[in-house]
Amino acid sequence: MQDTALYEYLLGLKSPWSVSRVNLDVKEQRVDVWAEHPEGAKWECPQCAKKLPLYDHSEERTWRHLDSCQFQTHLHARIPRVECDEHGVVQVKVPWAEPRSRFTLLFERLAIDVLSQCDVSGATGILRISWDEAWGLMQRAVKRGKERKKARVVRRIGVDEKAAAKGHRYLTLVCDLDDGTVEHIAEDRKQDSLDGYYAGLSKKQLNGIEAVAMDMWKPYIQSTLAKVPDAAGKIVFDRFHVMGYIGKAVDTVRRQEHLELMESDDETLKGTKHLWLYSRENLPDWRRNEFNALRRQELKVGRAWAIKEALRRLWNYAYPESGRKFWKRWYFWATHSRLAPVRAAAETIRRHIDNILTYYQHPVTNAMSEGLNSKIQKIKSMACGFRNMENFKTAIYFHCGGLDLYPC
Ligand SMILES: [Zn+2]
Repeated sequence: MQDTALYEYLLGLKSPWSVSRVNLDVKEQRVDVWAEHPEGAKWECPQCAKKLPLYDHSEERTWRHLDSCQFQTHLHARIPRVECDEHGVVQVKVPWAEPRSRFTLLFERLAIDVLSQCDVSGATGILRISWDEAWGLMQRAVKRGKERKKARVVRRIGVDEKAAAKGHRYLTLVCDLDDGTVEHIAEDRKQDSLDGYYAGLSKKQLNGIEAVAMDMWKPYIQSTLAKVPDAAGKIVFDRFHVMGYIGKAVDTVRRQEHLELMESDDETLKGTKHLWLYSRENLPDWRRNEFNALRRQELKVGRAWAIKEALRRLWNYAYPESGRKFWKRWYFWATHSRLAPVRAAAETIRRHIDNILTYYQHPVTNAMSEGLNSKIQKIKSMACGFRNMENFKTAIYFHCGGLDLYPC
């Protein structure tokens, strides 16, 4: 087999295209391949597919292809142009690459596989492409995937804020809780950050939303109430966020009590911060005795901890009525605890209780898609590599969007 025929085969070139020349540069470890076509070939207008004769050629262009062994391989060709009555003078489509891409389809497929398995700087090393080229490939893959994505009803969504790498900039993420995919990303965590997601949905899609898990965050609440039909019964405040409030209150009680005790050099609470934040069953075995001894000491933080632990039962009830009865008992206990931080947390929770108890109809939380959260966490931990917010968003869609990224 001649080298030109070999490359025709490797590149999958079909008539009228053929390989005219192959150049091997051993010193540069590089193979250059030129594709050409015979005179008189007819070409399709890329818009209307009308068969037309050649008008002229654009300048020679180069595409990076899969390496030939360790040799970087580049394909060269001049793309024919046709003159269509309707669409003017236009470049035809070449079978080996997408319009405007500097890579062949096969190379893009490989690049997407590599980029989905390692971080961007690792991928640039393996693929021997530049940083900007890697991001360009990811952006194009995401754009392709989003264009292809079919509109569907997402029944249960989670709205979550993520702090972006530096400073206090936030992203709003909308997730499909059942599929574990990120459906929408917007900058900031304002009402219009979420409005943007709802605005892109059809009436059928909006009506199809059954539950929205979120933090007790006013802009998200307002956006959802304004855009989703019957949202009042569909918003479910994330139970872990609710527990976070009471957990913080326990920590405040501990800190204040520790300061009081230290005035008389009493170090009872020194180094105990995390003990009070664990759920009962997560307490490490080696600290169990220490913790039980503290619990016997009639400490304020011990009372606060017991109130916190009791609240967890709120999510265990099968019947809304029993749940509501439990809530009333718990609220009475918390507000009569003589612990100001606990009382304040109980008040905050009371103001939101109706949409906490919607959990009984729609048992959703933002922690439902654990796999998704840990993926986003991983992307975030590589965030030192993100030179801008756009790249961060691209990476989330690329890894978590559930998109079909490959060129066809
Ligand atoms: Zn045309």
